[in-house]
Amino acid sequence: MDVTDAAEAVRAFLVPAPSTLTIEQRWGNACVWCPQTILPGQGVNLGGTDDCHPHACPPCHEDQAAALAAYLDWNEHVSHCTICRTGPCDTTLTMKHATMRAREHAGWGAAYCASCQKTFGPGEGFMPHVWLGTSRVVLSLVHTGPCALPQVPDKY
Ligand SMILES: [Zn+2]
Ligand SMILES: [Zn+2]
Ligand SMILES: [Zn+2]
Repeated sequence: MDVTDAAEAVRAFLVPAPSTLTIEQRWGNACVWCPQTILPGQGVNLGGTDDCHPHACPPCHEDQAAALAAYLDWNEHVSHCTICRTGPCDTTLTMKHATMRAREHAGWGAAYCASCQKTFGPGEGFMPHVWLGTSRVVLSLVHTGPCALPQVPDKY
């Protein structure tokens, strides 16, 4: 995934809801991911609406975009790879590792299974699972083997 696509994906998937932002963040005067002040004309524009103009500082944006791109690239691979239908191929293992490292770097917190809601333990198999939630596309991860609850919940 190239930088432009990643930046678009960040806008589509990662910009926090306006209701969770402070006034400064809504006006683009502070980064939505850290306390960094953003001067007019600086920072990365995250789109927004008439009364919300979220911006990010470049380092945060880079970290978020990298974590998202790693995840989406991995998802893309899994959805096309025939080997991955029965078990993880070498590419998937590499991409999983890259995704986990990028997530950690972006401060996304512990990865957990969208099906059983448990945090993944060391050595557990899991893969990306993109699905349509009640109001938006949900980028989740699920165990590849059986887990406590077989069904993906239809909402969080
Ligand atoms: Zn920041
Ligand atoms: Zn594969
Ligand atoms: Zn699970």
